[in-house]
Amino acid sequence: MQADLQRALEKPIDQRKWAMVIDLERCVGCSACTIACKAENHLPPGVVYRPVIEEEIGQYPNVTRRWLPRPCQQCDDPPCVSVCPVEATWKREDGIVVIDYEACIGCRYCITACPYGARYFDFGDNYTDDTPALQPYEVMASPEYGGAWDRRGDESPIGNVRKCHFCAHRLDAGMLPACVTTCIGSATFFGDRNDADSLVSELIGDARVFRLKEDLGTEPKVFYLA
Ligand code: SF4
Ligand code: SF4
Repeated sequence: MQADLQRALEKPIDQRKWAMVIDLERCVGCSACTIACKAENHLPPGVVYRPVIEEEIGQYPNVTRRWLPRPCQQCDDPPCVSVCPVEATWKREDGIVVIDYEACIGCRYCITACPYGARYFDFGDNYTDDTPALQPYEVMASPEYGGAWDRRGDESPIGNVRKCHFCAHRLDAGMLPACVTTCIGSATFFGDRNDADSLVSELIGDARVFRLKEDLGTEPKVFYLA
């Protein structure tokens, strides 16, 4: 995957088409990805870019259980973008849907518009509020979008909407998303769908592939293997 990433980064940004593939047969429900994402992006209480949803399938006594990690689906036709009254969210040339924390006014229209529940509001809470001191993890600046967002006082991203961005700041630095590198089941794959030789291109051709709520026409760039 690292070689696929390097190959993609050598191309102009508008020729990359990032995609994530999650193999549900391999996911063991450990939530290591959820925690890695929280740590990478310094996410406060109530903001979870990559929840792992437990699902029960079938009817008793023929039931089975599976876990479904659910990051932002990076829709190719994202309903969250068109509802923003200040154009604070848009799709990058490589397909990643991003948010400008300086422009977001916190109206939360996009939270309502997202059919996947992938957007969250930062209310300014901390895990160690009401203790003698905030933990270093909570006062360190988040590197999202190549910035240094330290959430001091009422500053951004407090009062903004937040969501998964495929770890765009890591990609831009030549690194795979945090959830991909920490998945102990090797269930999450990432790469350039515009590269026929990439691992994700091969996996997307698998007969088990599906996407969430495909009937909505949002064209997610997160693919699942059943
Ligand atoms: S999953 Fe939701 S937040 Fe992500 S691009 Fe699609 S509509 Fe927007
Ligand atoms: S790609 Fe990055 S931001 Fe998105 S779920 Fe994975 S770790 Fe979180």
